[in-house]
Amino acid sequence: MTDGSWRVDAAVIGSGPAGCSAALWLSEMGFSVALVERSNGLLASLADLPLAQNWVLGEPWALTSDLAQRYAAHIQGQPGVHIAVNHAIVQAQWSMSAGWRLVSGTGRMIEARAVVVATGLQSRIFEACSGPETPFDARELTRRRAHLSAGRFLLLGGGDNAVENAAYLTKAGHSVVLWSRGPLRAQRHLLDQLERFSAQGLTLRIAQAMPDRLVSRTGKQNNVGVWQIHSTAHGAESFDYVAVLFGDVPQEAALQMFAKATGSKEALSDAGVFVAGDLGGRWHPCISTAIADGVEAAQKVRKWIGRAETDPARSNRLTDQPIAEKGLQNLTISGLRFDANLGILERERGNPQPIQVDAELNLGPQPLAPPDDDIRHVLDYRKVRQIIIDECSARHVNLLESLVGKLCSRLLQLPGVQGVRVQIVKLEIFDDCEVAIRMEAGQW
Ligand SMILES: Cc1cc2nc3c(=O)[nH]c(=O)nc-3n(C[C@H](O)[C@H](O)[C@H](O)COP(=O)(O)OP(=O)(O)OC[C@H]3O[C@@H](n4cnc5c(N)ncnc54)[C@H](O)[C@@H]3O)c2cc1C
Repeated sequence: MTDGSWRVDAAVIGSGPAGCSAALWLSEMGFSVALVERSNGLLASLADLPLAQNWVLGEPWALTSDLAQRYAAHIQGQPGVHIAVNHAIVQAQWSMSAGWRLVSGTGRMIEARAVVVATGLQSRIFEACSGPETPFDARELTRRRAHLSAGRFLLLGGGDNAVENAAYLTKAGHSVVLWSRGPLRAQRHLLDQLERFSAQGLTLRIAQAMPDRLVSRTGKQNNVGVWQIHSTAHGAESFDYVAVLFGDVPQEAALQMFAKATGSKEALSDAGVFVAGDLGGRWHPCISTAIADGVEAAQKVRKWIGRAETDPARSNRLTDQPIAEKGLQNLTISGLRFDANLGILERERGNPQPIQVDAELNLGPQPLAPPDDDIRHVLDYRKVRQIIIDECSARHVNLLESLVGKLCSRLLQLPGVQGVRVQIVKLEIFDDCEVAIRMEAGQW
């Protein structure tokens, strides 16, 4: 891996909660990852939102900006995740044999076997706005609202963001008009908040046609607002601030680029491209669902790479060396001794006993020299050793046969593992002998 070009198992586009969660899970499963973010920092979507929210389990009333900081620190310290901020992919090429070749606007090349696209949502715009100023969208208004000088606000929209902001701004002493083309669609607790402030300078225009013209000027003159608004129902009005809070649409530019490279959106999953987070529109958009969807996308990548390993036509492994430069590789861990809770005898139930694990993993054809001599391009045997210990000591198991089977299944899930041979020995079950079960699974 050089500064200008990266070769990884998976590229993750977008570093919101979904992208970071996908990158974390992929790297925990032993894959190398490039995390590519268009803006100048990780978790840009949450980093500057000072919202105390009570929706993330285990994080009561955490500020979204604090969550962002903690998520970013976690992912920055995660081994095997390479981070590129201020990077947008401008070119994407795909071939069955070589996988994905991506180029960013700054010229970085990323070769990846699979891709997760987690680019989130963007605010819907209102075509009737013109002039040098841009109206606030939900994120910008939430970010800046605590610092705005007193003024007259026009909030267009009737969902959660519009109602929450109307209550907040009224409470802060601004004069607010909340204008919605249909009935308000916000959550009950937000509507309750709004009701409390309706006597304090809040004007509701519900189920009314939208203004037909919103024209901004460059600054205040003679106490005239920056925004001139025109509507049939209310004629000409002026406001200091306007926010368009019409909800969000998927931020699809990157996804469209990948779809173009494969020929269609439907072909994306066959080319190892998976969507995560709000972009997919599968669930209610929030931090928790985005994180969960990142996990799901990482699992899809794992399965996809696993299938590609055994399909010669799709074997876009990290190296395109000819077969003559490859050899069949096995990873062996022998004589690993530790205590496990195992067995049906009374004394076995109460106390852990020493066992020995021997494991052999078939890694199939591998380059004679790993690309770039980099630990991220091979199965890390430190992780394999730890997984064996964790799997065998997680909880009590009655039968040695169950433990061997459980360990085989776990090891078969590791990236690139085609077959496993596992032997577990009970070292002290009898005074005069040891007892072992051996199992072979997968391809040999
Ligand atoms: C004002 C506001 C307040 C909110 N408050 C809460 C709350 O209190 N609690 C809660 O749970 N949820 C809240 N949400 C929702 C929450 O922010 C989202 O549901 C969540 O961030 C979605 O995560 P994601 O990873 O799918 O997308 P995002 O968080 O939107 O992340 C997408 C990332 O992709 C990057 N990106 C976009 N295009 C490209 C590209 N072409 N190349 C590279 N990178 C790209 C973006 O810069 C961004 O960093 C709020 C949303 C808003 C707008």
